Amino acid sequence: MKKIISRRSFLSQLSAGTATAVIAGPLGLYAGERQDRKLGVALVGLGKYSTRQLGPALRETKFCRLMGVVTGSKEKGEQWAKDYGFPVKNIYSYDTMAQLASNPDIDIVYVVTPNGLHAAHAIAAAQAGKHVICEKPMANTVAECDSIIAACRAAKVKLSVGYRLHFDPYHQELMRLAKEQGFGPITNMTGDRGFVMSTKVWRADKKLAGGGPIMDLGIYIIQGACMAANGAAPLAVTAIAHPTTRPDLFVDVEQGMSWTMEFPGGAICTAQTSYQHNCDRFKAASAKGWIEFKEHAFTYRGMVVETSRGPLSFTPPNQQALQMDDFARCVLSNRESPIPGEIGRRDLVIIEAIYKAAATGRRVALNI
Ligand code: NAD
Repeated sequence: MKKIISRRSFLSQLSAGTATAVIAGPLGLYAGERQDRKLGVALVGLGKYSTRQLGPALRETKFCRLMGVVTGSKEKGEQWAKDYGFPVKNIYSYDTMAQLASNPDIDIVYVVTPNGLHAAHAIAAAQAGKHVICEKPMANTVAECDSIIAACRAAKVKLSVGYRLHFDPYHQELMRLAKEQGFGPITNMTGDRGFVMSTKVWRADKKLAGGGPIMDLGIYIIQGACMAANGAAPLAVTAIAHPTTRPDLFVDVEQGMSWTMEFPGGAICTAQTSYQHNCDRFKAASAKGWIEFKEHAFTYRGMVVETSRGPLSFTPPNQQALQMDDFARCVLSNRESPIPGEIGRRDLVIIEAIYKAAATGRRVALNI
């Protein structure tokens, strides 16, 4: 614990501007931000997202690097240590996360386990004195989000949610249009996101996933719509669950969901999400124009985006590398993440309202 405190005070010295040489990072440094070394990240859960996206992205980050893992498989951890060049002492199991407290190599813990485990792992990381990134959805319930936020506050560590699209140039253009009212106020949004699930996995298990595709996929449309509404949350939702055509897969979660969100100013988003159809689209329109994410709206690459003024063309960055670097810079400069726990919590409030609307058949008002 002693080491942690001295590491923390070192970081606060950094942000107070009393520490060593300033190195101009390739991303450019914020005022008062200094960098002496890359912050150490530990990934919790070495499944597909960690293996295919976050691990490789951590080879590209400028302000942080992979320095440890938390995994149920010692052999897997040893392979990662070899591949990424961190010491085997930095391999932890889910049960030994408290020991992270005495490891100064690790500054940031990134929780990438199934949704229903996010709260336990994020809280364990915070209690070990580590800054936390939690994958989306932030947790299964609003109450779990509250406990993560409280644990991070109590430990005085920073918290962010893995909403990588805040670092995607097409979504940044959506946010810019919303902020500057490029097409005037958005009045109408549509979204559809789904994939075909053919075998039962944790994503269709309520305890581990919190719900069905609304938790995993619909949440992207919720995020996109709130971006198009210039950060505003919906005032009310209506929803209807899709009929279950695969009762073998969808026992205690919905197979699909159609829902609407009413935003301040009267904008309406009509959306659907499903584990039984393929789609990835989003459109926001006003009386004067529109922006349409026609293909791969919410994924990492291959986005096809047009506006009423013509197609958009950006070089796709590594969203995850930008996201993790931004969080490392938040830690270095003692700045709050632009994607704090409160945004993850907001989306769970909306999702809980959608489930309530689907269960009751009634419009559910929100006051976020
Ligand atoms: P995955 O199934 O591939 O990996 C999950 C990992 O958790 C595995 O390593 C598994 O061993 C481990 N685990 C620990 N306890 C477990 C348990 N009790 N049951 C099942 N697995 C357990 O899943 P994934 O696709 O890597 O998703 C992990 C998290 O990342 C989810 O919260 C998901 O929503 C999120 N995710 C985010 C994005 C994104 O673009 N931001 C993309 C994919 C996944």
